[in-house]
Amino acid sequence: MTGQVQTTLRSPEAFSLARRAVEEMEAAHVWPTPLNFELWVHYLGEPEGPLGQEMRRLLADGTVFSEGTSEMLAAEYLPRGRLSEEIRDAGAVLNRELSTVSEAIAKAQQSQAAYGQTLAGASAHLETASEPTALLGVVSKLTKATTQVQAENATLERRLESSTKEVARLREHLEQVRRDAMTDALTNLANRKAFDEELLRACDEADKKRQPMTLAVLDIDHFKRFNDTWGHQTGDQVLRYVASVIGRVSKAPRVAARYGGEEFAVIFPGESAAVVEAALNSIRVEIGARALRRRSTNDELGAVTISAGLAQRQPGESGADLLGRADEALYASKRAGRNKVTNGERLAEAA
Ligand code: C2E
Repeated sequence: MTGQVQTTLRSPEAFSLARRAVEEMEAAHVWPTPLNFELWVHYLGEPEGPLGQEMRRLLADGTVFSEGTSEMLAAEYLPRGRLSEEIRDAGAVLNRELSTVSEAIAKAQQSQAAYGQTLAGASAHLETASEPTALLGVVSKLTKATTQVQAENATLERRLESSTKEVARLREHLEQVRRDAMTDALTNLANRKAFDEELLRACDEADKKRQPMTLAVLDIDHFKRFNDTWGHQTGDQVLRYVASVIGRVSKAPRVAARYGGEEFAVIFPGESAAVVEAALNSIRVEIGARALRRRSTNDELGAVTISAGLAQRQPGESGADLLGRADEALYASKRAGRNKVTNGERLAEAA
Protein backbone atom coordinates (compact mmCIF):
# COMPACT_ATOMS: atom_id res chain seq x y z
CA MET A 1 0.00 0.00 0.00
CA THR A 2 1.44 3.40 -0.90
CA GLY A 3 2.20 5.83 1.91
CA GLN A 4 -0.47 8.29 0.82
CA VAL A 5 -3.29 5.71 0.78
CA GLN A 6 -2.07 4.19 4.03
CA THR A 7 -2.20 7.61 5.71
CA THR A 8 -5.70 8.26 4.35
CA LEU A 9 -6.92 4.90 5.67
CA ARG A 10 -5.93 5.98 9.16
CA SER A 11 -7.49 9.42 8.95
CA PRO A 12 -11.06 10.76 9.36
CA GLU A 13 -11.53 10.38 5.58
CA ALA A 14 -11.06 6.59 5.77
CA PHE A 15 -14.77 5.75 5.92
CA SER A 16 -15.73 8.17 3.20
CA LEU A 17 -12.99 6.67 0.97
CA ALA A 18 -14.24 3.12 1.69
CA ARG A 19 -17.87 4.18 0.96
CA ARG A 20 -16.86 5.84 -2.30
CA ALA A 21 -14.94 2.72 -3.31
CA VAL A 22 -18.08 0.60 -2.84
CA GLU A 23 -20.28 3.12 -4.68
CA GLU A 24 -17.89 3.37 -7.61
CA MET A 25 -17.57 -0.41 -7.87
CA GLU A 26 -21.35 -0.64 -8.01
CA ALA A 27 -21.54 2.09 -10.66
CA ALA A 28 -18.93 0.24 -12.74
CA HIS A 29 -20.80 -3.08 -12.28
CA VAL A 30 -17.83 -4.61 -10.51
CA TRP A 31 -18.22 -7.20 -7.75
CA PRO A 32 -17.01 -5.91 -4.37
CA THR A 33 -14.46 -8.70 -3.89
CA PRO A 34 -11.62 -7.97 -1.44
CA LEU A 35 -9.20 -7.58 -4.35
CA ASN A 36 -11.48 -5.16 -6.23
CA PHE A 37 -12.05 -3.22 -3.00
CA GLU A 38 -8.29 -2.88 -2.55
CA LEU A 39 -7.91 -1.73 -6.16
CA TRP A 40 -10.70 0.86 -5.86
CA VAL A 41 -9.42 2.19 -2.55
CA HIS A 42 -5.99 2.71 -4.10
CA TYR A 43 -7.46 4.20 -7.25
CA LEU A 44 -9.66 6.70 -5.39
CA GLY A 45 -7.08 7.36 -2.67
CA GLU A 46 -4.46 8.28 -5.24
CA PRO A 47 -6.24 8.96 -8.54
CA GLU A 48 -3.16 10.45 -10.21
CA GLY A 49 -0.91 7.52 -9.26
CA PRO A 50 0.04 4.90 -11.90
CA LEU A 51 -2.82 2.57 -10.83
CA GLY A 52 -5.31 5.47 -10.86
CA GLN A 53 -4.30 6.45 -14.39
CA GLU A 54 -4.49 2.88 -15.69
CA MET A 55 -7.88 2.27 -14.06
CA ARG A 56 -9.29 5.50 -15.50
CA ARG A 57 -8.07 4.44 -18.92
CA LEU A 58 -9.60 0.96 -18.61
CA LEU A 59 -12.90 2.32 -17.28
CA ALA A 60 -13.06 4.88 -20.08
CA ASP A 61 -12.39 2.10 -22.63
CA GLY A 62 -15.29 0.13 -21.13
CA THR A 63 -12.93 -2.70 -20.15
CA VAL A 64 -14.66 -5.48 -18.25
CA PHE A 65 -13.15 -5.96 -14.80
CA SER A 66 -13.01 -9.72 -14.83
CA GLU A 67 -11.09 -11.62 -12.16
CA GLY A 68 -8.19 -11.85 -14.60
CA THR A 69 -8.10 -8.09 -15.21
CA SER A 70 -8.17 -7.36 -11.47
CA GLU A 71 -5.42 -9.88 -10.77
CA MET A 72 -3.31 -8.39 -13.49
CA LEU A 73 -3.75 -4.86 -12.13
CA ALA A 74 -2.98 -6.07 -8.63
CA ALA A 75 0.18 -7.87 -9.76
CA GLU A 76 1.32 -4.80 -11.67
CA TYR A 77 0.36 -1.96 -9.36
CA LEU A 78 -0.44 -3.09 -5.82
CA PRO A 79 2.45 -3.22 -3.41
CA ARG A 80 3.76 -6.72 -3.17
CA GLY A 81 2.98 -7.44 0.46
CA ARG A 82 3.01 -11.18 -0.07
CA LEU A 83 6.27 -11.13 -1.94
CA SER A 84 8.06 -9.04 0.66
CA GLU A 85 6.68 -11.27 3.42
CA GLU A 86 7.98 -14.36 1.63
CA ILE A 87 11.38 -12.76 1.18
CA ARG A 88 11.46 -11.65 4.82
CA ASP A 89 10.54 -15.19 5.97
CA ALA A 90 13.15 -16.72 3.71
CA GLY A 91 15.73 -14.26 5.08
CA ALA A 92 14.87 -15.29 8.66
CA VAL A 93 15.25 -19.01 7.84
CA LEU A 94 18.53 -18.35 6.08
CA ASN A 95 19.82 -16.36 9.08
CA ARG A 96 18.84 -19.18 11.41
CA GLU A 97 20.62 -21.74 9.26
CA LEU A 98 23.73 -19.60 9.03
CA SER A 99 23.86 -19.11 12.83
CA THR A 100 23.43 -22.85 13.41
CA VAL A 101 26.24 -23.63 10.99
CA SER A 102 28.52 -20.91 12.41
CA GLU A 103 27.93 -22.19 15.97
CA ALA A 104 28.69 -25.76 14.91
CA ILE A 105 31.86 -24.64 13.14
CA ALA A 106 33.00 -22.58 16.17
CA LYS A 107 32.40 -25.56 18.43
CA ALA A 108 34.30 -27.87 16.09
CA GLN A 109 37.21 -25.38 16.00
CA GLN A 110 37.31 -25.34 19.81
CA SER A 111 37.32 -29.14 19.88
CA GLN A 112 40.11 -29.26 17.31
CA ALA A 113 42.18 -26.79 19.36
CA ALA A 114 41.59 -28.83 22.52
CA TYR A 115 42.50 -31.98 20.64
CA GLY A 116 45.72 -30.31 19.45
CA GLN A 117 46.60 -29.46 23.04
CA THR A 118 45.88 -33.02 24.16
CA LEU A 119 48.17 -34.34 21.40
CA ALA A 120 50.94 -31.92 22.39
CA GLY A 121 50.58 -32.92 26.05
CA ALA A 122 50.59 -36.62 25.12
CA SER A 123 53.75 -36.27 23.04
CA ALA A 124 55.54 -34.51 25.98
CA HIS A 125 54.44 -37.31 28.30
CA LEU A 126 55.58 -39.99 25.88
CA GLU A 127 59.08 -38.48 25.75
CA THR A 128 59.45 -38.75 29.55
CA ALA A 129 57.21 -41.71 30.47
CA SER A 130 58.96 -45.00 31.00
CA GLU A 131 56.37 -46.88 33.05
CA PRO A 132 53.80 -48.99 31.11
CA THR A 133 50.99 -47.60 33.35
CA ALA A 134 51.97 -44.05 32.44
CA LEU A 135 51.97 -45.05 28.74
CA LEU A 136 48.56 -46.63 29.14
CA GLY A 137 47.24 -43.43 30.74
CA VAL A 138 48.51 -41.37 27.75
CA VAL A 139 46.95 -43.77 25.22
CA SER A 140 43.62 -43.82 27.04
CA LYS A 141 43.57 -39.98 27.15
CA LEU A 142 44.33 -39.90 23.41
CA THR A 143 41.59 -42.40 22.62
CA LYS A 144 39.03 -40.39 24.62
CA ALA A 145 40.01 -37.12 22.93
CA THR A 146 39.89 -38.74 19.49
CA THR A 147 36.42 -40.20 20.14
CA GLN A 148 35.17 -36.81 21.28
CA VAL A 149 36.54 -35.04 18.20
CA GLN A 150 35.02 -37.70 15.94
CA ALA A 151 31.62 -37.19 17.60
CA GLU A 152 31.90 -33.40 17.17
CA ASN A 153 32.81 -33.86 13.51
CA ALA A 154 29.87 -36.19 12.96
CA THR A 155 27.53 -33.60 14.53
CA LEU A 156 28.98 -30.85 12.35
CA GLU A 157 28.55 -33.00 9.26
CA ARG A 158 24.90 -33.72 10.12
CA ARG A 159 24.19 -30.03 10.73
CA LEU A 160 25.86 -29.02 7.49
CA GLU A 161 23.91 -31.64 5.58
CA SER A 162 20.57 -30.53 6.99
CA SER A 163 21.43 -26.85 6.43
CA THR A 164 22.46 -27.55 2.85
CA LYS A 165 19.09 -29.21 2.26
CA GLU A 166 17.21 -26.32 3.90
CA VAL A 167 19.10 -23.72 1.87
CA ALA A 168 18.41 -25.65 -1.37
CA ARG A 169 14.69 -25.83 -0.46
CA LEU A 170 14.72 -22.10 0.27
CA ARG A 171 16.44 -21.30 -3.00
CA GLU A 172 13.82 -23.31 -4.90
CA HIS A 173 11.02 -21.57 -3.02
CA LEU A 174 12.43 -18.11 -3.70
CA GLU A 175 12.85 -19.00 -7.36
CA GLN A 176 9.15 -19.98 -7.44
CA VAL A 177 8.18 -16.69 -5.76
CA ARG A 178 10.27 -14.80 -8.31
CA ARG A 179 8.63 -16.71 -11.17
CA ASP A 180 5.14 -16.00 -9.74
CA ALA A 181 5.93 -12.30 -9.49
CA MET A 182 6.82 -12.26 -13.20
CA THR A 183 3.91 -14.40 -14.41
CA ASP A 184 0.36 -13.47 -15.34
CA ALA A 185 -1.74 -15.71 -13.08
CA LEU A 186 -4.58 -16.22 -15.55
CA THR A 187 -2.64 -17.14 -18.66
CA ASN A 188 0.75 -18.23 -17.28
CA LEU A 189 2.47 -16.00 -19.81
CA ALA A 190 4.94 -13.35 -18.63
CA ASN A 191 3.22 -10.34 -17.04
CA ARG A 192 3.69 -6.74 -18.07
CA LYS A 193 6.44 -6.08 -15.55
CA ALA A 194 8.43 -9.08 -16.78
CA PHE A 195 7.79 -8.05 -20.37
CA ASP A 196 9.01 -4.47 -19.82
CA GLU A 197 12.22 -5.79 -18.28
CA GLU A 198 12.67 -8.35 -21.04
CA LEU A 199 12.12 -5.71 -23.73
CA LEU A 200 14.93 -3.57 -22.30
CA ARG A 201 17.21 -6.59 -22.11
CA ALA A 202 16.36 -7.72 -25.66
CA CYS A 203 17.01 -4.22 -27.08
CA ASP A 204 20.40 -4.17 -25.37
CA GLU A 205 21.26 -7.61 -26.67
CA ALA A 206 20.18 -6.71 -30.22
CA ASP A 207 22.56 -3.73 -30.15
CA LYS A 208 25.43 -5.77 -28.69
CA LYS A 209 25.04 -8.64 -31.15
CA ARG A 210 24.05 -6.30 -34.01
CA GLN A 211 21.15 -8.57 -34.79
CA PRO A 212 17.57 -7.86 -35.81
CA MET A 213 14.71 -8.01 -33.34
CA THR A 214 11.01 -7.71 -33.94
CA LEU A 215 8.15 -6.87 -31.62
CA ALA A 216 4.53 -7.90 -32.07
CA VAL A 217 1.36 -6.84 -30.29
CA LEU A 218 -1.82 -8.88 -30.58
CA ASP A 219 -5.33 -8.03 -29.48
CA ILE A 220 -8.49 -10.14 -29.31
CA ASP A 221 -11.16 -8.72 -31.61
CA HIS A 222 -14.42 -7.57 -30.04
CA PHE A 223 -13.45 -9.02 -26.69
CA LYS A 224 -15.71 -6.64 -24.77
CA ARG A 225 -18.73 -7.71 -26.80
CA PHE A 226 -17.78 -11.31 -26.15
CA ASN A 227 -17.48 -10.72 -22.42
CA ASP A 228 -20.78 -8.84 -22.24
CA THR A 229 -22.56 -11.66 -24.07
CA TRP A 230 -21.05 -14.67 -22.35
CA GLY A 231 -19.82 -13.37 -19.00
CA HIS A 232 -16.43 -12.82 -17.45
CA GLN A 233 -15.66 -16.42 -16.66
CA THR A 234 -15.98 -17.41 -20.29
CA GLY A 235 -14.04 -14.25 -21.22
CA ASP A 236 -11.20 -15.43 -19.00
CA GLN A 237 -11.22 -18.83 -20.72
CA VAL A 238 -10.97 -17.14 -24.09
CA LEU A 239 -7.95 -15.23 -22.80
CA ARG A 240 -6.42 -18.53 -21.71
CA TYR A 241 -7.13 -20.12 -25.05
CA VAL A 242 -5.56 -17.28 -27.05
CA ALA A 243 -2.60 -17.23 -24.62
CA SER A 244 -2.10 -20.98 -25.03
CA VAL A 245 -1.78 -20.68 -28.81
CA ILE A 246 0.52 -17.64 -28.56
CA GLY A 247 2.60 -19.42 -25.90
CA ARG A 248 3.01 -22.57 -28.01
CA VAL A 249 4.31 -20.60 -30.97
CA SER A 250 6.53 -18.39 -28.82
CA LYS A 251 9.08 -20.75 -27.32
CA ALA A 252 12.36 -19.28 -26.02
CA PRO A 253 14.19 -17.17 -27.01
CA ARG A 254 10.85 -15.61 -27.99
CA VAL A 255 9.09 -14.02 -25.02
CA ALA A 256 5.30 -13.85 -24.91
CA ALA A 257 3.40 -11.74 -22.38
CA ARG A 258 -0.08 -10.63 -21.50
CA TYR A 259 0.42 -6.93 -21.83
CA GLY A 260 -3.00 -5.56 -20.94
CA GLY A 261 -6.60 -6.78 -20.55
CA GLU A 262 -6.93 -8.61 -23.87
CA GLU A 263 -3.65 -7.47 -25.37
CA PHE A 264 -0.59 -9.66 -25.77
CA ALA A 265 2.95 -8.90 -26.87
CA VAL A 266 5.76 -11.08 -28.17
CA ILE A 267 9.46 -10.26 -28.49
CA PHE A 268 11.24 -12.06 -31.33
CA PRO A 269 15.01 -11.75 -30.72
CA GLY A 270 17.16 -12.26 -33.82
CA GLU A 271 14.12 -12.40 -36.14
CA SER A 272 13.20 -10.13 -39.01
CA ALA A 273 9.77 -8.64 -39.75
CA ALA A 274 9.10 -11.03 -42.64
CA VAL A 275 9.66 -14.16 -40.49
CA VAL A 276 7.56 -12.73 -37.66
CA GLU A 277 4.76 -11.78 -40.02
CA ALA A 278 4.50 -15.43 -41.08
CA ALA A 279 4.56 -16.63 -37.45
CA LEU A 280 1.82 -14.18 -36.49
CA ASN A 281 -0.31 -15.24 -39.40
CA SER A 282 -0.04 -18.86 -38.32
CA ILE A 283 -1.08 -17.83 -34.77
CA ARG A 284 -3.99 -15.82 -36.20
CA VAL A 285 -5.18 -18.71 -38.39
CA GLU A 286 -4.84 -21.27 -35.59
CA ILE A 287 -6.79 -19.14 -33.11
CA GLY A 288 -9.59 -18.42 -35.57
CA ALA A 289 -9.88 -22.05 -36.69
CA ARG A 290 -11.31 -23.39 -33.43
CA ALA A 291 -15.02 -23.20 -32.57
CA LEU A 292 -15.06 -22.63 -28.82
CA ARG A 293 -17.72 -23.90 -26.48
CA ARG A 294 -18.98 -22.44 -23.25
CA ARG A 295 -17.91 -24.99 -20.67
CA SER A 296 -20.85 -24.51 -18.29
CA THR A 297 -23.65 -24.88 -20.90
CA ASN A 298 -21.86 -26.32 -23.90
CA ASP A 299 -23.22 -23.43 -25.99
CA GLU A 300 -21.30 -22.81 -29.17
CA LEU A 301 -19.31 -19.59 -28.72
CA GLY A 302 -17.99 -19.47 -32.24
CA ALA A 303 -14.47 -18.58 -33.22
CA VAL A 304 -12.39 -15.78 -31.74
CA THR A 305 -10.16 -13.71 -33.98
CA ILE A 306 -7.15 -11.60 -33.25
CA SER A 307 -5.55 -8.57 -34.86
CA ALA A 308 -1.82 -8.05 -34.71
CA GLY A 309 0.83 -5.50 -35.58
CA LEU A 310 4.58 -5.87 -35.75
CA ALA A 311 7.62 -3.65 -36.08
CA GLN A 312 11.26 -4.54 -36.63
CA ARG A 313 13.61 -2.62 -34.37
CA GLN A 314 15.86 -0.03 -35.92
CA PRO A 315 19.41 0.04 -34.51
CA GLY A 316 19.44 2.03 -31.27
CA GLU A 317 15.63 2.37 -31.15
CA SER A 318 14.15 2.42 -27.63
CA GLY A 319 11.70 -0.25 -26.46
CA ALA A 320 8.99 2.39 -26.00
CA ASP A 321 9.36 3.69 -29.59
CA LEU A 322 9.35 0.16 -30.96
CA LEU A 323 6.21 -0.64 -28.96
CA GLY A 324 4.62 2.54 -30.27
CA ARG A 325 5.27 1.47 -33.88
CA ALA A 326 3.99 -2.07 -33.29
CA ASP A 327 0.85 -0.55 -31.70
CA GLU A 328 0.31 1.66 -34.75
CA ALA A 329 0.52 -1.44 -36.94
CA LEU A 330 -2.01 -3.19 -34.66
CA TYR A 331 -4.43 -0.29 -35.04
CA ALA A 332 -3.98 -0.43 -38.80
CA SER A 333 -5.14 -4.09 -38.60
CA LYS A 334 -8.16 -3.03 -36.55
CA ARG A 335 -9.02 -0.24 -38.98
CA ALA A 336 -8.68 -2.62 -41.93
CA GLY A 337 -11.45 -4.83 -40.56
CA ARG A 338 -9.66 -6.97 -37.87
CA ASN A 339 -8.51 -10.60 -38.07
CA LYS A 340 -5.37 -9.28 -39.76
CA VAL A 341 -1.62 -8.95 -39.27
CA THR A 342 0.00 -5.66 -40.27
CA ASN A 343 3.70 -5.43 -40.88
CA GLY A 344 4.71 -1.96 -39.64
CA GLU A 345 7.64 -1.87 -42.06
CA ARG A 346 5.22 -1.84 -45.00
CA LEU A 347 3.12 0.78 -43.26
CA ALA A 348 6.20 3.00 -43.10
CA GLU A 349 7.03 2.38 -46.79
CA ALA A 350 3.48 3.28 -47.84
CA ALA A 351 3.51 6.55 -45.82
P1 C2E B 1 -8.08 -25.80 -19.72
O1 C2E B 1 -9.55 -25.95 -19.68
O2 C2E B 1 -7.37 -25.85 -18.39
O3 C2E B 1 -7.49 -26.91 -20.68
C1 C2E B 1 -6.11 -27.16 -20.77
C2 C2E B 1 -5.81 -28.07 -21.93
O4 C2E B 1 -6.44 -29.35 -21.73
C3 C2E B 1 -6.32 -27.57 -23.27
O5 C2E B 1 -5.35 -26.72 -23.83
C4 C2E B 1 -6.49 -28.87 -24.04
O6 C2E B 1 -5.23 -29.31 -24.49
C5 C2E B 1 -6.96 -29.85 -22.97
N1 C2E B 1 -8.46 -29.86 -22.93
C6 C2E B 1 -9.25 -29.40 -21.96
N2 C2E B 1 -10.54 -29.64 -22.24
C7 C2E B 1 -10.56 -30.29 -23.42
C8 C2E B 1 -11.62 -30.82 -24.22
O7 C2E B 1 -12.80 -30.76 -23.90
N3 C2E B 1 -11.24 -31.44 -25.39
C9 C2E B 1 -9.94 -31.51 -25.77
N4 C2E B 1 -9.65 -32.10 -26.94
N5 C2E B 1 -8.92 -31.04 -25.02
C10 C2E B 1 -9.24 -30.43 -23.85
P2 C2E B 1 -5.83 -25.65 -24.91
O8 C2E B 1 -6.65 -26.27 -25.96
O9 C2E B 1 -4.58 -24.96 -25.37
O10 C2E B 1 -6.73 -24.62 -24.10
C11 C2E B 1 -6.19 -23.77 -23.13
C12 C2E B 1 -7.28 -23.10 -22.35
O11 C2E B 1 -8.12 -22.34 -23.23
C13 C2E B 1 -8.23 -24.08 -21.63
O12 C2E B 1 -7.68 -24.42 -20.40
C14 C2E B 1 -9.47 -23.21 -21.52
O13 C2E B 1 -9.36 -22.31 -20.44
C15 C2E B 1 -9.48 -22.42 -22.80
N6 C2E B 1 -10.27 -23.08 -23.83
C16 C2E B 1 -9.83 -23.77 -24.91
N7 C2E B 1 -10.85 -24.21 -25.64
C17 C2E B 1 -11.96 -23.81 -25.01
C18 C2E B 1 -13.37 -23.96 -25.30
O14 C2E B 1 -13.81 -24.56 -26.28
N8 C2E B 1 -14.22 -23.40 -24.41
C19 C2E B 1 -13.79 -22.73 -23.31
N9 C2E B 1 -14.70 -22.24 -22.48
N10 C2E B 1 -12.49 -22.57 -23.02
C20 C2E B 1 -11.60 -23.11 -23.87
